Amino acid sequence: MIKYRLICQDCETTFDSWFSSSKEYERLKKKNFLNCHICNSLSVEKTLMSPSVFTRKNDSKTDNQIQKYKRTKEVISKYQEFIKKNFDYVGENFVYEARSFYYKNKKASKGIYGTATKEDLKELDEEGIETELIPWIKDNTN
Ligand SMILES: [Zn+2]
Repeated sequence: MIKYRLICQDCETTFDSWFSSSKEYERLKKKNFLNCHICNSLSVEKTLMSPSVFTRKNDSKTDNQIQKYKRTKEVISKYQEFIKKNFDYVGENFVYEARSFYYKNKKASKGIYGTATKEDLKELDEEGIETELIPWIKDNTN
């Protein structure tokens, strides 16, 4: 829906009118379906100041997306904290360490986390080693 402020050229009355689209306005205008509520004149034009609900809707949508992004970032940060506390960081040795756990039955109280390529994870998966891919935000504050 779009709202136009219309003005009658004859009596100079302005009034707001709703249309499903700007094309609908053009269509009604061409067919002379737009007339002044006061003097019935057909010389009705839309004024340049035409507030549109689309703009407002888009704005709030952007706000929502920013809020959503912030919330997601918070959740990931908390998840990262949890992992840092409860898992040992093995960095690029992740694949090696994961295999050690699996094949040598390595005893450890903590799980491990680190970096691996997609190919590495695919290989581990084929060997029956379960890994979990998690989103990670690089900590730039340290
Ligand atoms: Zn009029």
